[in-house]
Amino acid sequence: HLSLRLQTVADFVQPGARLADIGSDHAYLPVYLAEKGLLAKAVAGEVVRGPYENAVSEIKKEGLDNVIMARLADGLAAIKPEDQIDTVTIAGMGGTLITKILDDGADRLRHQERLILQPNVGEDNVRRWLQEHLYGIIAERILAEDGHIYEIIVADPVETPTTFSETQLKFGPFLLREKSPVLQDKWRKEQARLDDVIATMQRAQHAPKEKIDAFINQRNQIQEVVL
Ligand code: SAM
Repeated sequence: HLSLRLQTVADFVQPGARLADIGSDHAYLPVYLAEKGLLAKAVAGEVVRGPYENAVSEIKKEGLDNVIMARLADGLAAIKPEDQIDTVTIAGMGGTLITKILDDGADRLRHQERLILQPNVGEDNVRRWLQEHLYGIIAERILAEDGHIYEIIVADPVETPTTFSETQLKFGPFLLREKSPVLQDKWRKEQARLDDVIATMQRAQHAPKEKIDAFINQRNQIQEVVL
């Protein structure tokens, strides 16, 4: 049984996939998919020894050593050419770390992989990276679980890049079209945070007007675009 967050990531892994789950921790995602018979092969990559050992013992406990290989490696260095990986999942990290992992390991990608990314913050960085590296977003999900809101971005390699506007990169092109209550909830919270920042700055003696205006613009953009 997976969290709704990881279940939603799992839903985009195609049956028979050759998966690399980077930052796998307990390897819950590949273990779940392998138990359902949905994986041809998987690599569970971890850069930290503790989580790597969690992955090793979970895989062993479930008797899945023949399908899933845990590897102690930094980012995409866990992937070897002979793995013929066709799906990469990176979940539960900041968007900046996810794009750093993709940049640092660019030579490990064949531009044939589906990327299923779940940034905890900084989703716009992830979308911008995808656009700049010829990955087309095919789906986005937003969900609430345990008091957190999570976004999942799914991308496949493309020949022709889609250029998104700054607004689409920020809010998500698919999420904007759908405008779900969870999306509105997420941005209503951000709006409330910005309102606090603006009020604090307006009370301060020397807050520069341009800075205050920039925050007011951000606040108004949320109002116009999502609410
Ligand atoms: N992916 C799992 C999930 O979504 O539930 C675990 C998320 S956990 C919060 C983030 C994991 O990423 C940690 O176990 C951390 O050690 C690992 N990690 C961070 N940077 C990494 C990197 N450069 N390469 C591999 N793993 C990394």
